[in-house]
Amino acid sequence: LRRAVIARRRVVILKPALDDRYAPDHLVSHSEQRVPSLVVRNSAEVFRHGREAEVVGIDETQFLDEGIVEVCERLADAGKRVIVAGLDLDYRGNPFEPIPQLLARAEYITKTLAICVVCGVPAGRTQRVAGRDERILVGSTEFYEARCRGCFEPPEEE
Ligand code: ZN
Repeated sequence: LRRAVIARRRVVILKPALDDRYAPDHLVSHSEQRVPSLVVRNSAEVFRHGREAEVVGIDETQFLDEGIVEVCERLADAGKRVIVAGLDLDYRGNPFEPIPQLLARAEYITKTLAICVVCGVPAGRTQRVAGRDERILVGSTEFYEARCRGCFEPPEEE
């Protein structure tokens, strides 16, 4: 996205309203890089903003409704570059829709691993260390930590 901005493409960066961590009008990564962004409440709003752009970035896409799959397809079919970020697994270690649908339709996938806080190897799981049972509980280090396959402890099913 940064390269698209430098190349003077019309770039729009969108993030779901549900994620109210940090600043409302910038996309801020955990490493504190910031890029201007717009807040959206649903996939229809993604389409409305995306239609006006050449390059569309969507962050925390796991918090959007399943309509986002069709929206991304339509934008990509219209020739836009659509760059989607999101968590592929929920805190139970299960696929986190709609991300699997998007992974299947994407031309390119980059899987980024964190570092296991227990043993230090690459970590693809998210351990919930506090909070309740709902699937969506927005937070950062106070609720979650990165764990590898071996150190991940799936929560008990009730
Ligand atoms: Zn580990």
